[in-house]
Amino acid sequence: MKDIIYLDHAATTATDPEVLEAMLPYFSEKYGSATQIYSLGREGGEAVEKARERVAALINADPDEIYFTAGGTESDNWAIFGTANKNIKKGNHVITDKIEHHAVLHSFDELKRRGFDTTIVGVDSEGFVSPAEIEAAVTDKTTLITVMHANNEIGTLQPVKEIAEVAHAHGIHFHTDTVQTVGHIPVDVKEIGCDSLAISAHKFYGPKGVGAFYLKKGSKTDRLLFGGAQEKNRRPGTQNVPGIVGMGFACERAMKNLDKEIAETKRLQTMLIEGIESAIVDCRLNGSRTKRLPGNVNFSVDGVEGESMILFLDMEGICVSSGSACTSGSLDPSHVLMALGLKHEQAHGSLRMTLGKENTEADVKKVLEVLPPIVARLREMSPLYNK
Ligand code: PLP
Repeated sequence: MKDIIYLDHAATTATDPEVLEAMLPYFSEKYGSATQIYSLGREGGEAVEKARERVAALINADPDEIYFTAGGTESDNWAIFGTANKNIKKGNHVITDKIEHHAVLHSFDELKRRGFDTTIVGVDSEGFVSPAEIEAAVTDKTTLITVMHANNEIGTLQPVKEIAEVAHAHGIHFHTDTVQTVGHIPVDVKEIGCDSLAISAHKFYGPKGVGAFYLKKGSKTDRLLFGGAQEKNRRPGTQNVPGIVGMGFACERAMKNLDKEIAETKRLQTMLIEGIESAIVDCRLNGSRTKRLPGNVNFSVDGVEGESMILFLDMEGICVSSGSACTSGSLDPSHVLMALGLKHEQAHGSLRMTLGKENTEADVKKVLEVLPPIVARLREMSPLYNK
């Protein structure tokens, strides 16, 4: 069997072997429930608190401001429903943008169904949200602004610090989805000035199904779930001790390796972007060329379907993704690419490659060797491409 070249790190990452090793005892001999007071339970409880310190250290927060959740989706939902509900006496208006993850956009749909007033601002052709446009949407009823730190499809980094300033000038809670940035680029809650943020462990070499919610002390945000007294009485449910331990180690690993990994990933990203642009005509880099996540490469390739490129690359052992229909399990092309102003066929012809710590120059060279002939072959068969 061929070695896999994995270029879909924005979807998920392999749990780092050292992270996995740290987790294993908490499935077996250290299985106690973290809230029990006998020693087996205390051992789990101490491990959870150590992990909380590690998560807090990575984003420059206080451990008291970190709550463990089941991932990025739950943390985004908590910020949105928790803040909208808590501040209902002040107002029922909330603001976000068109290229958020569905964890945010579908929560906004639900708020609308429940009678809230929602504003969803557009983005420019590179995917940037304008702080001025956000400010223009603010009313005296606005209680929440949520804008992601970096987009999962095109990697565009948003001006979150400026947007946080707009929110605070009007006394509004600012939440940011940092699922694609924590563990990949520096994220500092004090530097951004956010009131809450969402983190997901499986995006940076931690396990799936565990995440964290940062909630600044004093924020007016209700709980999302109801039940036991775990997580300082704000997030019920028996804690996922192995997952939480893994998340803590993934944070520590990221802190140690961040600068080195950013430099290497950027180097490979530049090679890949420049290589594609010089070998394939009629393709367009989606997103910003300068303010983008180090690992993200996203092209629209004229005249070919994203699914076809995925399947042909898969036959070469290369895993990539696309914002086209079907790959996302829906018939619509990516809402992110459509929001940039792309035509349907350009969105259908998109290819996303996201690099990670185990990728090498040889991986990039292999993609640059096999992709141009795949595109040429697909274009020969395509009724959409006749140049
Ligand atoms: N937000 C963004 C930007 C994401 O990329 C994802 C995952 O794809 C999520 C939220 C959801 O995170 P999780 O899979 O941990 O629920």
